[in-house]
Amino acid sequence: MTYTTELTADHKQFLDELFQDGVKYDKPSLRVYESDASNIRGEVLAVVRPTCVEQVSEFMRWADAERIPVHPRGRGTSLSGGCVPTVPGIVVSMLGMDRILDISETDFVATIEPGVNTVAFQQECEKHNLFYPPDPASSKATSVGGNVVTCAGGLRAVKYGVTRDYVLGCDVVVPGGKILSFGGRTQKDVVGLDMTRFMVGSEGSLGILTKLYLKLIPKSEGTASLLVGYESLDAALQSMGKVFAAGILPCAVEFMNETVLDILKQTGGHPWPDSVNSLLLFQVDGSAETVSMNIEQLSNQIDDALWRMMGTTSDEENELWGYRRSVSSASYVLGPDRIGGDMAVPRGQILQAVRRFESLAAQNGKRLIAFGHAGDGNIHANLHYDASDPDDAKRTRKAHHEMDEAVLEFGGSLSGEHGVGCLKNVGLQLGKDEHELMLKVRGLFDPNGILNPNKGY
Ligand SMILES: Cc1cc2nc3c(=O)[nH]c(=O)nc-3n(C[C@H](O)[C@H](O)[C@H](O)COP(=O)(O)OP(=O)(O)OC[C@H]3O[C@@H](n4cnc5c(N)ncnc54)[C@H](O)[C@@H]3O)c2cc1C
Repeated sequence: MTYTTELTADHKQFLDELFQDGVKYDKPSLRVYESDASNIRGEVLAVVRPTCVEQVSEFMRWADAERIPVHPRGRGTSLSGGCVPTVPGIVVSMLGMDRILDISETDFVATIEPGVNTVAFQQECEKHNLFYPPDPASSKATSVGGNVVTCAGGLRAVKYGVTRDYVLGCDVVVPGGKILSFGGRTQKDVVGLDMTRFMVGSEGSLGILTKLYLKLIPKSEGTASLLVGYESLDAALQSMGKVFAAGILPCAVEFMNETVLDILKQTGGHPWPDSVNSLLLFQVDGSAETVSMNIEQLSNQIDDALWRMMGTTSDEENELWGYRRSVSSASYVLGPDRIGGDMAVPRGQILQAVRRFESLAAQNGKRLIAFGHAGDGNIHANLHYDASDPDDAKRTRKAHHEMDEAVLEFGGSLSGEHGVGCLKNVGLQLGKDEHELMLKVRGLFDPNGILNPNKGY
């Protein structure tokens, strides 16, 4: 594709007239939009902040005609470089479209703009005694639109599924400026192809989402958590199997491998004994009565644990989840830079996959931080290194690549939730014919390839 990668005075005049105060060109304002949580950098020509769908439509008509690359952006927490302008272009910040338009207690449907913050939306739903389950660990910082476009998963996916399970419909502006509506406010709809599903997880490659129709469910009365310590990850995952076999479905099950425990030991301040080398963290939810019954039943099932700590009040639960939240920051004792993986494997393959990744890391002189969503087989497999040491960086990249290859042997996926962005090699996973078909679909939406070029698939 041939792109326009510099803005002329005429281009700027068009943008100024369309967005007025909502456009910026100066270097200090653009700097933050050059990157996202991946820390990879690109080049930004301008950032625009639309406040209505008509502006998005007029902008997309113009950008397509001018062949200017467009990089949609929510809150920029992508860990895979999904927002990085890999080709110099205009960043479209969707944070100017952040209104909750309606939360219907009769329909159990919310209608919102994509820039709404995820936690703010969840809190608003709770005021109506309703619940929006998708909960990426980053939800305090993310936009719901960003969650939809990446099909974000989270801690509660084991019971409630991922973002795709809550998107009933959407409005989207495609290159050329057409405003399309897919799905809508009904819980059921089988007329035509399910284009809403195309949009979910599309990583900004098909259009810019401007409105979302989201499914809600009744809010549970409460939750309780249980942190359990084991001699090894093998023992921990065997124990988790017993919980599921007993017919208990927790809303979250997190695991941490021996390296994580070693690091947490170094940072100190934890309540478990030194004999504990691996942790599981469970959460159950429901009515007050079922929560206390389920957490007791769950605790009884894991009779082989070395240590356990229950949290039934929100302060107690916060303490337990605080240990899980501290893993990412504590891991930097292994090196100031990080390559992260979020591979997914069938639930029964977690142990084998983690052991394989650990051995590949060790062969390259690295230690593997492995933790994540055990309930749905989503492994956060992180390698830390020092980017100023070329040998360390090379060995880390090699180990990471070998892990990506290995995950496929377990019937897994390179990415369970963070997306492909500009980091992952989809060619490893997708068959040639399947990949070609996806590119043809992309070409139908975006014939001139202006949307998020070089990202996704
Ligand atoms: C500490 C940390 C923890 C994380 N934990 C999780 C986790 O548990 N689960 C998980 O799934 N992810 C997690 N992430 C990754 C990230 O938060 C998610 O991918 C999130 O969904 C991105 O939301 P965002 O609003 O920041 O989107 P952005 O990062 O701004 O954008 C993500 C992608 O969506 C596109 N996009 C954004 N808005 C639109 C729109 N309106 N229309 C079209 N395209 C759009 C962008 O071009 C980009 O490709 C984590 C990240 C961090 C930093």
